[in-house]
Amino acid sequence: TALPVRATEHTLIAVKPDGVQRRLVGQIIHRFEQRGFKLVGLKMMQASEDLLSEHYREIVKKPFYPLVRAYMTAGPVIVMVWEGSNVVQSSRKMVGPTNGAEAQAGTIRGDFSFHVGRNVVHASDSTEGAQREIGLWFQENELLNWESCDQDWTI
Ligand code: ADP
Ligand code: MG
Repeated sequence: TALPVRATEHTLIAVKPDGVQRRLVGQIIHRFEQRGFKLVGLKMMQASEDLLSEHYREIVKKPFYPLVRAYMTAGPVIVMVWEGSNVVQSSRKMVGPTNGAEAQAGTIRGDFSFHVGRNVVHASDSTEGAQREIGLWFQENELLNWESCDQDWTI
């Protein structure tokens, strides 16, 4: 019997400045590749305060937001778009809860973080949120739709 066909889904994953500075980029990308998700966009950039306040519009009025802004603009971030069935929810599970102190070992935050203010990665929390965030961080021509081919790459 055929598997149910699900619409292809995308999510925005970012390695935050602490992740870049702690040389965790490779390990974080590895987890998404290993899971089988498809990388369709990736770049390194310095987030501006304006982009960040759009990205974090749900927390921009919170008292701790100035700390988040200082943290997230302290150095470059790696932003990525990953594709796959149920990738939004799966990524949130792979990343773990916001507070690294509460995150289980085996999750990215549980393995690399113990603090809510230094939690290494961002992952979109809904498909609508993902679409909005991808539109903020990426131009359309920066997202590539590629397929595996039957080429013999050893030649
Ligand atoms: P998540 O990143 O798990 O989706 P939120 O969207 O609630 O979490 O918050 C966005 C980010 O703001 C968090 O990842 C964290 O870096 C920061 N943050 C959230 N709550 C706090 C807090 N109480 N103190 C400091 N930073 C926080
Ligand atoms: Mg969030």
